[in-house]
Amino acid sequence: MQSLTEAEIRKSFINCSKGEAKRLNVPPRLNEVDWESLEFFSWINAKNPQKACVVVPQQDGAVAGVLLTRAKAQGKKAQMCSFCMTLHPGSGISLFSAAKTGESGRRGNTLGTYICSNLRCADYVTGKKKPEGIRQIDETLTVEQRLQRMLENAQAFVERLHQTS
Ligand SMILES: [Zn+2]
Repeated sequence: MQSLTEAEIRKSFINCSKGEAKRLNVPPRLNEVDWESLEFFSWINAKNPQKACVVVPQQDGAVAGVLLTRAKAQGKKAQMCSFCMTLHPGSGISLFSAAKTGESGRRGNTLGTYICSNLRCADYVTGKKKPEGIRQIDETLTVEQRLQRMLENAQAFVERLHQTS
């Protein structure tokens, strides 16, 4: 993805107020990030691990930042990440919710989805990380194709945040 500055990241958020976006805990040393190798940029808030962010490149070249809140209770059941389709035991996956955009979000509407707890989806796709004690579904897609699918799944999630119902 394209490289982003802190200001660009803050400006990209679609589901929180400008004030919230200003106060977000954006990771330091963005100039050291290997942007080219990323499909999307994500981080867990270092001060409050219940809060996380994902910045997803859109089809039109813009980027969309999404503020996520992690459900406190960790499920015990295995679940599949809705972005990278990796199967995790309960400890490796979290239910994240995101406020909808605009009026719908201000009325309190949210959308929940299961995502890798550490938001390091690409590491699971490329095999850098492996969930322990769980068998993955056999797939014929290449790593490239799976990275592309992961990006499309993240884009679809962003798309759904804009839907009013
Ligand atoms: Zn994932």
